[in-house]
Amino acid sequence: MAFLDIKNLCVDIRIDKVWVNICSNLNISINEGEVCGMIGSSGSGKSIIAKALTGMYGPNMRVHTDSFRFNDIELNNMPSLMRRKVIGENIAIILQEARSSLDPSLPIITQMKRALPRKAFDSPWYKSLFWRKKTVNNLLHRVGIKDVNKVIHSYPYELSEVLCQKIIIAMALGRKPKLLIADDPISSMTSISQLQILRLIASFNKNSKVTVLYMTNDLAPSLKFMDKIYMLYCGQIVETSTSKELVARPKHPYTESMLNAIPDYNKNLRHKCKLKVLEGDPPEFTNIPIGCRLGSRCPYADKECNVMPGITKYKHGSYRCHFPLNIKDEEIQGK
Ligand code: SF4
Repeated sequence: MAFLDIKNLCVDIRIDKVWVNICSNLNISINEGEVCGMIGSSGSGKSIIAKALTGMYGPNMRVHTDSFRFNDIELNNMPSLMRRKVIGENIAIILQEARSSLDPSLPIITQMKRALPRKAFDSPWYKSLFWRKKTVNNLLHRVGIKDVNKVIHSYPYELSEVLCQKIIIAMALGRKPKLLIADDPISSMTSISQLQILRLIASFNKNSKVTVLYMTNDLAPSLKFMDKIYMLYCGQIVETSTSKELVARPKHPYTESMLNAIPDYNKNLRHKCKLKVLEGDPPEFTNIPIGCRLGSRCPYADKECNVMPGITKYKHGSYRCHFPLNIKDEEIQGK
């Protein structure tokens, strides 16, 4: 049984008093200790899925799952308070804009001390004051912050976005989560900073044995850190595969286009040459086409694509396409 196993996740959000479906029939399965990627362009529904998984949503969002198993516990059958407790104690989330996730009115040390769970310390309360300060220092050292004394007495606006993201990761570390959901933590960073954060999350996974669901729109820098990848297009998982298989033999045209868009720096790139990206924009959630959601942008589209493709499984994963690439009939399960 997978560590996180979600069957048929459906999410709707209310826009101008009308419920709009963002995703339906999403199946997510992550084994313990894996780093799993969810890759999709901006607006494909990643952040909404992250909120749905952590229960961070208000009355304008509704979530349904047929099954939501986490660490062998079925959360669907739990009273909401208990479910929130299980999620709060075991799942941590890192959001896109780190600085705005921190309280602007408090110095870092106060915020970090408050974020440490009481259960992590089992001696009398008066000893916990010293313990909290020591733990905050250790955590900041672990995420590679050198000038800890200066940083802990700073306010978020005085720190760079990368430092703020490292602090958020340190806070998450302090909670000792079993699952970390990272919602595009490297967007709007330079490529060197992106790599720093990715390495940090990878070491977090390796040393603290934390399972990671890493959401991003940038396939290239994250590929080598991931065991398995979900490709998300317009609220639908269009391909699931191991990262090796995905790079070597993408099955879905959207995956192929994302791989083609990665610049090959070994070749002589022409000055101002264009990235190979799909023409057009993804459809709006309020105006989803009847057939395949990639249809109007897909170079392989044909009349069969007016019917929504189902999920086809094969040895390394699954895909949703009538005309998959790089696969032989005998590899398809059930053929
Ligand atoms: S089903 Fe058709 S339109 Fe959709 S990705 Fe496959 S080939 Fe393209």
